[in-house]
Amino acid sequence: MGEMVSANKVAHAYLLTGPRGSGKTSTARVLARVVNCEHNQKKLGEPCNECSACKSILAGSAMDVIEIDAASNRGIDDIRELKEKIRLAPAHLPKKVYIIDEVHMLTSEAFNALLKTLEEPPSHSLFILCTTELHKVPETIVSRCSRIQFTKATPEEMQRSFKRVIEGEGAEAESEALAYLAKAVDGSFRDGVKILDQVLSNSKKLTLSDLTQAISGSATYKIDDLVSALAKKDINVALAELNEATKNGMDLTYLLVNLMRALRDKLLDGSIEMGATKLIFTLDEVARRQATSLDGELLIQVAIVEWCGNDENNSQITNSQILKSSEKVEEKQSNVSSWAAMKEKIRSGEKIGKSDIIDEARAIFS
Ligand SMILES: [Zn+2]
Repeated sequence: MGEMVSANKVAHAYLLTGPRGSGKTSTARVLARVVNCEHNQKKLGEPCNECSACKSILAGSAMDVIEIDAASNRGIDDIRELKEKIRLAPAHLPKKVYIIDEVHMLTSEAFNALLKTLEEPPSHSLFILCTTELHKVPETIVSRCSRIQFTKATPEEMQRSFKRVIEGEGAEAESEALAYLAKAVDGSFRDGVKILDQVLSNSKKLTLSDLTQAISGSATYKIDDLVSALAKKDINVALAELNEATKNGMDLTYLLVNLMRALRDKLLDGSIEMGATKLIFTLDEVARRQATSLDGELLIQVAIVEWCGNDENNSQITNSQILKSSEKVEEKQSNVSSWAAMKEKIRSGEKIGKSDIIDEARAIFS
């Protein structure tokens, strides 16, 4: 962190770019502490994490550190409000810090409003923009930020990071377990920590067998069956496998990422039709929506229905299967109202064609 803010020179805006899980948001929060730490007056080093400023930021209760997820606040109103508020001095801390996650999702109007703010940033403000898709951020914005590129950590780096986490918990780990975990999460530190939390809540030692059980219980075990059902466009089995994979409360983003990778492997070895590229793009879209969706599993069901039904020869899809697949969704009251309305029609005995269901599924993703 020291080199980013060296020589007492803190930029007004940073742009953190890099793949998912590479540490952008956590770095943004560290930066927020660096510029506000009471024991770090020269802003040269690491935050102390003990003063009241650091503590309030760590607890997420600091009013002057504002996190905005651009995926769910895309519009100009949010940015306009931000533009007005930015003029006000911070309430408690030396610097008001705005962290805008997934900044590439902003609308072009919102980008223009943001640009005006970046052109004349008040001295009490710090903007930290994060993105996984740099090419979607306008050059005018990029040129006004100090850019920090994050790269996917190597398995060796991941192992070292996980080791620190484990030691910090007063626990230990078998070296094979560390190596396995680093490989399984494919560069996502966040995914790895989630799994560690799960395993270390039961044991003070991370063993390969506990780990494989935790991962397979939640991820890889059913992936193969789910993937082959998708390859065969067997909607029954695919939906049942999804239900199987999620009923243990598995993290859906983790499931989606692993599913996309497994489909990619199938594409590469030619065991799934080339059209599966479209399924991968749809699942990627579903993964992006997980953070803001009221019912992420419903979106995956819809993607499966669209994929399996998107085959003229597939006559397997029936209304009762659709109903069965969404039992869980109904309990939670679906957030996709037209989808829910259609299920209502099916239930009341109204005849709905397969193509209507597929159209509806497409509409949800359009
Ligand atoms: Zn501090």
